[in-house]
Amino acid sequence: MLIESSRRPENATSRTIVDAGDYYINIVHAGQTIRIVDVEGNEAADTLFFNAHDSAERYSAIDTVREQGNVYLGTGTNLLSNRGNVMLTITADTCGRHDTLGGACSSESNTVRYDLEKRHMHSCRDNWMLAIAEHPEFGLTKRDITHNINFFMNVPITPEGGLSFAEGISGPGKYVEMRAAMDVVVLISNCPQLNNPCSGFNPTPLEILIWQ
Ligand SMILES: [Zn+2]
Repeated sequence: MLIESSRRPENATSRTIVDAGDYYINIVHAGQTIRIVDVEGNEAADTLFFNAHDSAERYSAIDTVREQGNVYLGTGTNLLSNRGNVMLTITADTCGRHDTLGGACSSESNTVRYDLEKRHMHSCRDNWMLAIAEHPEFGLTKRDITHNINFFMNVPITPEGGLSFAEGISGPGKYVEMRAAMDVVVLISNCPQLNNPCSGFNPTPLEILIWQ
């Protein structure tokens, strides 16, 4: 369901451009709203959420999909933790398709899916690992890196039950907005993938806005 937000960017308390292939890590407090903008279109925002006070509590695709009875995320979706608590709720969405089944790209999956020589290409998992290494203040370790959300990524389920990485349906300026129900660490990899269409074969910037 496509729902526009009434929030105005000029009233946001912070606005951050995440360059193509870069990462974003920050805390969003309970009651605050975060918007992720697909600035130029067809970008994928590979996202993880953690309880800011206890990183053992984190976003759970399994609990979220089971409780809403739908494999895609959209307006109204409660993003649940591995303890069944609501971490954030999607309150606006102008894209209409967000995946949480496909996982993130990594050196290993690039090698298996594409070619041995893709092993050294930049990946989302490497972005997350760099983020937590450069920001030890968030208390995350590589054991905390698990299954994620791919905002703006189109991973339709085929009639045979498989997954396909399809052409994106997002476009310039489309966004997804969430209200935090607890203090959360937001960790985003702006996907640098060049071997499939999840970033339109041309990674581009994201913008992150936060409102009180
Ligand atoms: Zn990726």
